[in-house]
Amino acid sequence: LYNMVQDLKGNIRVYCRIRPSFSCESKNVIDFIGEDGSLVILDPLKPQKDGRKVFHFNQVFGSTATQVEVFKGTQPLIRSVMDGYNVCIFAYGQTGSGKTHTMSGPSGGSTGDMGINYLALNDLFQISKRRKDIIDYDIHVQMVEIYNEQVRDLLVQDSSTTKYPFILIRSCTGDNGLSIPDATMHSVNSTADVLNLMKYGEVNRVVSSTAINNRSSRSHSVLTVHVHGKDTSGGTFRSCLHLVDLAGSERVDKSEVTGDRLKEAQYINKSLSCLGDVITALAQKNSHIPYRNSKLTLLLQGSLGGQAKTLMLAHVSPEDDSFSETVSTLKFAQRVSTV
Ligand code: ADP
Ligand code: MG
Repeated sequence: LYNMVQDLKGNIRVYCRIRPSFSCESKNVIDFIGEDGSLVILDPLKPQKDGRKVFHFNQVFGSTATQVEVFKGTQPLIRSVMDGYNVCIFAYGQTGSGKTHTMSGPSGGSTGDMGINYLALNDLFQISKRRKDIIDYDIHVQMVEIYNEQVRDLLVQDSSTTKYPFILIRSCTGDNGLSIPDATMHSVNSTADVLNLMKYGEVNRVVSSTAINNRSSRSHSVLTVHVHGKDTSGGTFRSCLHLVDLAGSERVDKSEVTGDRLKEAQYINKSLSCLGDVITALAQKNSHIPYRNSKLTLLLQGSLGGQAKTLMLAHVSPEDDSFSETVSTLKFAQRVSTV
């Protein structure tokens, strides 16, 4: 089914998305985008030939790509969750590079230009409807945030308890390794249900962030979609799709930040490099995969490796003042890529 196309391509792939430029003064560092997934950028300080850097990915989306075009690129992967495969999709990149735009949609919550989270669920509901005579699907979602290596449930609706409780991550072997133990599960049947939950989760995220400036770019948010299928002969399967909006990958100048900010930066650094290590180890088919080194990889363990499929969406800004972060994003993405 959907999986056959995927098998030909391997289980780890990397796409790159370039967001539109918002500044008319800055120079655009994007030199060339190839249909074959190549991307050439130009160092603004070395505009001659030696300032060119070439990267190769599975696919590159230029700044004019629409939300639907990007979604279409992920669709076969997302659909394989309906055939029982576990899937992880990560948005990676510096703050401001368009990660939340890709995953959730434009800031401010307008429903016109929805991102992958919404389009994916919408697609899963349609498949479920189309197959209803052969498979009975149950779809549930969870939404958590990881901040400073602490996991919080963003969809707790019982106001009599602690509002956004921390979740203990047990070894992810229970329940086929597919669930985040102790985070609330919400049944969804329509895109309206999904929109409501996403809004609720976003509000919780903002509410819990008042103490910490710009917290949403300093934490990872994970929307997990659990699929349970039952066919007419009584056979069942479970699978899940993790849609992850990662914390900003920008390096923080250690000489300028201290205390909490430094700690925060160190946590982000560590968890992003752990994620890179896990994906690289999987791509190289190493025997030891270092899942236990961060909460993020521990939480996603059941959906990274084995038969699971992984997609990294590397986001970059086109402006010349972001050049060094763009290079480090592309290098990271190239490292986890098997192209
Ligand atoms: P991040 O989550 O990586 O910090 P955002 O998704 O918040 O970045 O994007 C920063 C700003 O750029 C937001 O105002 C967002 O709406 C806008 N933006 C990002 N990508 C696009 C795009 N492809 N098209 C139009 N606007 C975009
Ligand atoms: Mg964001």
